[in-house]
Amino acid sequence: MGITGKPTLGRAERDIVALGIALTAVMLFVATGSSVLPGVVRSLLGTGHAPDNVLSSALLLNIALIIFGWRRYRELTEEILVRRTAEEKARILAETDPLTGCLNRRALANATERLRLNANLRGHSIAFGMIDLDNFKKINDLSGHVAGDRVLIEIAARIRARLPEDALLARIGGDEFAFAVPFDGAQPLLIDQLATSIIDVCNESLLTGFGSTGVTMSIGLASDSERVEGDRDFDVHALMHNADIAMYQAKKQGKNGYFWFDPTMEREFNKRIELETGIHQALANGEFEPYYEQQVDLETGELLGFEMLARWNSPDLGLVKPEVFIRVAEEMGVIAKLSEQLMEQAFEDAKQWDASLSLSFNISAYQLSDPWFAQRFLKLLVKHNFPPERVELDIAENCLHENSEQVQSIIASLKNQGIRINLDDFGKGLSSLDYLRSLAFDRVKIDRSFITGMQDEASNSKIVDAIVSLGAKLNVSIAAEGVEDQDILDALRTMGKLKGQGYLYGQPETAEQVHHRLTAMGKFNRAGEPLARHESDPVVVDIANDHRATGS
Ligand code: C2E
Ligand code: CA
Repeated sequence: MGITGKPTLGRAERDIVALGIALTAVMLFVATGSSVLPGVVRSLLGTGHAPDNVLSSALLLNIALIIFGWRRYRELTEEILVRRTAEEKARILAETDPLTGCLNRRALANATERLRLNANLRGHSIAFGMIDLDNFKKINDLSGHVAGDRVLIEIAARIRARLPEDALLARIGGDEFAFAVPFDGAQPLLIDQLATSIIDVCNESLLTGFGSTGVTMSIGLASDSERVEGDRDFDVHALMHNADIAMYQAKKQGKNGYFWFDPTMEREFNKRIELETGIHQALANGEFEPYYEQQVDLETGELLGFEMLARWNSPDLGLVKPEVFIRVAEEMGVIAKLSEQLMEQAFEDAKQWDASLSLSFNISAYQLSDPWFAQRFLKLLVKHNFPPERVELDIAENCLHENSEQVQSIIASLKNQGIRINLDDFGKGLSSLDYLRSLAFDRVKIDRSFITGMQDEASNSKIVDAIVSLGAKLNVSIAAEGVEDQDILDALRTMGKLKGQGYLYGQPETAEQVHHRLTAMGKFNRAGEPLARHESDPVVVDIANDHRATGS
C-alpha cells in the first residue's frame, strides 16, 4: 500500500505489461528478423532480391516497439524505485517516535509480533516490558518542556544501550516506553537483570546537565514463555496488557522497581481502571459534592466555620469517601479539576452563610506542585466574589517536604490576600518544627489519631498538651481534629484555648443540611435576605451525639 492508502500494485502491473510488450516485440523481431535480415544481406551482396516490404516494415516497427518498450520499462523501474523509497521513508516516519527515534505505539504491536514469531521459531520466548517514568511531570513543570524532552531523549538512548541488538524499544506515550526482547524462557533471571540495569539508567547523574532529576522508573514485565508450546493463538496484545498490569503494580508498590505479571494482579487492576473511568465520568457529570464539617471554639461552643470535605455521589457505588478517590484523582492528574469543581460549589453555598463563618479547603500536594496555584485560586475567589478573609486552606505536612521554596512562595501569595493557612494533620508524618517557624502558619491542626487516642494512651495526651503549649509560645493557634466525645472535649478544654471539630458536633453534612442548621441558628443569609439575628451574636453549637448525617 502507498502512503495514500491506494494500492501501488497497478503500476507494477503496468510495468509488467510494458515488459511483456517488449518481450513480444523481441520475439517478433526474432521471427521477422530471421526471414528479413538474410534477404537484406543477400540484397546488399547482390546475390538475391530485397526482402518483402511488409516484412521490412514489420521489422522496423518491432525495433521501434523494442526501443519504446525498453525505455518505458526503464522509466517505470525508476519511478517505482523512487516511489518505493518514499514509501519506505514514510513508513519509517509513521512507525518512529520523532523525539527519541524509538518505535512509536502504532508500530509496536506488529513489530513485537514479528519478533515473537522469530523467537518462537528458534525455541525462544520474548519478554515484554512496560516502562513508566516516575515524577517526570515535575521536570516539565519546573524546568520546561525543552528540558523534559532532553531528559526523554537521554533516557531513551541509555535504555537502548542496555538492550540487546535484536530487542525492540518504543516510546508509547509522554513518559512511557516499552521494550520487547527475545530470551531463553528457561532463564527469566536474565530479564530480571536487564530490568534492574534499565532502572539504573535513572540513577546515573548528570541527566542532560540537570544533576539529579528525581526521576525514577517503574517497569512491568510479562513473557510468553509458558505459552510457547501449543498456544499458537497467543495474542501479543495480551502480553502488552499483562505488562501494563505489572507496571501498575510496580507503581503501587512504591515505584522505582519492576514486577513480573501475575494473574492475581488483574482483578485489582480492573478495579482501578473502573475507578478511574468512574472518576472521569463523575467529573463530567458533576457527581462530586461538597460536604461540610463544623469547626467550633471548644471553650465556648461557638460555631466558627466549616471545613469542606469531598464526597462522590456515585450512581453505582453510592456515597464514596475521599480516601477512595482523592489519591487516585491525584495520580490521574485530575485533582485540581476535581478540587476546583468543589470549590466553586462551596463558594456559592458559603456566600449564603453568615459572613462571620469561615470556609476551609484541603489542598493536595499535587495542587501545590503547580506554580500557578495561588493565581488560580484567587481567580476563583474573584469569579465567585468570595471574601479571601473567610477562607482557610489546610495544607498537610507531606506537601512541604518537596519543593518547599515553591510552596513557601505560594503560601506567601495567598496570605498576602488575607487567606489563612493551616498546617493539617500535624504529627502524622515526619513533623518538622522548622515548618512552624519558617512557614508562618495561622493554625496547626493536631492529627485526629492523637486526639481520638488520648484516652487510650497517656502519651497521646502528653503530646497534645505539648503541642498546645508550643502553639501558645509560638503564637500559633491550635485546632484539634477528631473530637469524638465529651471526655475528649473535657480533656482538651483543660489544655488551653482550642478550636476543634469532630463527630461530637455532628458528622459532615450536605449544603442542604447546613442550610437548615444555619437557618435554625439565624445564620443563613440567602442572598439579599436580612439575618434573623444580630451578626455579632455568637452562635453556640448544640453537641449532637446523634449521627444522623450520612457524610462520614
Ligand atoms: P482531614 O482533612 O483530616 O479531614 C477530617 C476527616 O476526619 C474527615 O474525613 C472527617 O469526616 C473525619 N472526622 C471528622 N471528625 C471525626 C471524628 O470525630 N472521628 C473520626 N474518626 N473522624 C472524624 P473524610 O471526610 O473521610 O476526609 C478524609 C480526608 O480526605 C481529609 O482528612 C482530607 O485530607 C481529605 N479530603 C477531603 N476532602 C478533600 C478535598 O476536597 N481535597 C483534598 N485534597 N483532600 C480532601
Ligand atoms: Ca483538613
